Amino acid sequence: MTTQRRTPLSKDKLDAIRAIVGPKGVFEGEDAAPFLSEWRGRWPGEAALIVAPASTEEVAKIVKYCSDNDIAVTPQGGNTGLVGGQIPFGDEILLSLKRMRKIRAIEPLNNTMTVDAGVTLAEAQEAAKEAGRLFPLSIGSEGTCQIGGVISTNAGGVNVLRFGNTRDLVLGLEAVTPSGDIWHGLKRLRKDNTGYDLKQLLIGGEGTLGIVTGAVLKLFPRPAEKVTICAGLNSADDAVKLLSLAQERTGGMTSSFELMARLCIDLVLKHISQSRDPLGEKHPWYVLAEFSSGQKSGLRDTVEAMLGEALDQGLIVDAAIAENESHAHDFWRIRHSISEAINGEGLGARHDVSVATSDIPAFLEKADAAVLKIAPGARFVAFGHIGDGNVHYDIVGPEGSAQDVLEPVRPQIESAVYDVIDTFSGSISAEHGVGRHRRDTLAKRKSAVELDMMRAIKKALDPKGIMNPGKML
Ligand SMILES: Cc1cc2nc3c(=O)[nH]c(=O)nc-3n(C[C@H](O)[C@H](O)[C@H](O)COP(=O)(O)OP(=O)(O)OC[C@H]3O[C@@H](n4cnc5c(N)ncnc54)[C@H](O)[C@@H]3O)c2cc1C
Repeated sequence: MTTQRRTPLSKDKLDAIRAIVGPKGVFEGEDAAPFLSEWRGRWPGEAALIVAPASTEEVAKIVKYCSDNDIAVTPQGGNTGLVGGQIPFGDEILLSLKRMRKIRAIEPLNNTMTVDAGVTLAEAQEAAKEAGRLFPLSIGSEGTCQIGGVISTNAGGVNVLRFGNTRDLVLGLEAVTPSGDIWHGLKRLRKDNTGYDLKQLLIGGEGTLGIVTGAVLKLFPRPAEKVTICAGLNSADDAVKLLSLAQERTGGMTSSFELMARLCIDLVLKHISQSRDPLGEKHPWYVLAEFSSGQKSGLRDTVEAMLGEALDQGLIVDAAIAENESHAHDFWRIRHSISEAINGEGLGARHDVSVATSDIPAFLEKADAAVLKIAPGARFVAFGHIGDGNVHYDIVGPEGSAQDVLEPVRPQIESAVYDVIDTFSGSISAEHGVGRHRRDTLAKRKSAVELDMMRAIKKALDPKGIMNPGKML
């Protein structure tokens, strides 16, 4: 996929931008490589210059210069995005937030934390912990992805069921607009009905409407008791019913509820060293769930009783409760290793889709049937945040086939899966965003009215089209 190329940048212009950040903020030669490809090696990129400003003022100066000189800018956080939105096409400035790493303030009594955009998610979680609070956003890439990145992609992860997406966890933003102005929106308020909620445009905006430089995040009390379980089930339908039972019986204490097809476990055992089967027997489906409570005791009894009921109702066949943190960690390690294990199995076709939670079993049935017509013998590595209706619906070739066996039919597979998604009024991108990867699919599948509204917003805020061009729209 390409985008319209701009005039190559002259040395004078590049030097002017270099001068804003100084030598510490310029990455050239060998140092440039890590910014220009993403972790799976898809979408190799090119940039005229890579800069990492050290302050919001430096970001604003760079963007102002770029706006005045019609230079495109691609913002980059931790470079863990899965749709290529952070990778520039060519004559662009790649602006990394990696040098903006300050925790600016933590206010436990207001349950808020104000951070620079370049703070990693793990650092933000740790800072909240040190202040006796919880920042609940948790995703597999948390050691590397940055707060500006999770905001710009509206990241989801394993705790959305209880605490919401990133969108629900941000109270205020500081950002540099496409014309190079600084928007000082670091409000720490939970109520503010003074017109359009502008921060929501930047949240999930994938860097197309401005550069996030700081944020006020919501914090929560830390749980006093946590219970992690792994259950074996016969069907995805039973998993949906188990979720409902768990939510009813634990009074809203269900924080995570992840579904995994047996093939997920098989691939983790095959490709990830030191992995162990979570339960004694094999089952067609597994649920990994976590419950947390502010009370010091009682949760485990509640969860045990719930599992007993589920067993009696035939919703589960077997279950194990983690005996300690390391046991819980082993369960989570399986879940977090699935993506890597799929890489080991071949290129495959990957989808990050969502439907209403209650529609998941029907979606899986219809999508499997549609895919098998195109790729007989294909295998389904369905897993994901079932509590949010979000399925990572990945497909690999028949056992023992070549790594790239599905490549020739991948477009047909994707199209068939998205056709099924449309019949459920679902989403073709539940949490990873649009970026380069799904730009053309979005254009085909969103309604003309929605696309017009999106384009009108883009044009109003970025009339010169310099912010992350060729991504999303
Ligand atoms: C192993 C693994 C597990 C993952 N698990 C999940 C998951 O469970 N849930 C989930 O939602 N995602 C997940 N992801 C995807 C990814 O981690 C998220 O999309 C993350 O939010 C991206 O953050 P980042 O800092 O790496 O951003 P980048 O990849 O650098 O950028 C992503 C997008 O945001 C823009 N951007 C970045 N920083 C800024 C900024 N400061 N201002 C404006 N725009 C900016 C970029 O231009 C790009 O369009 C996973 C990725 C990996 C590799």
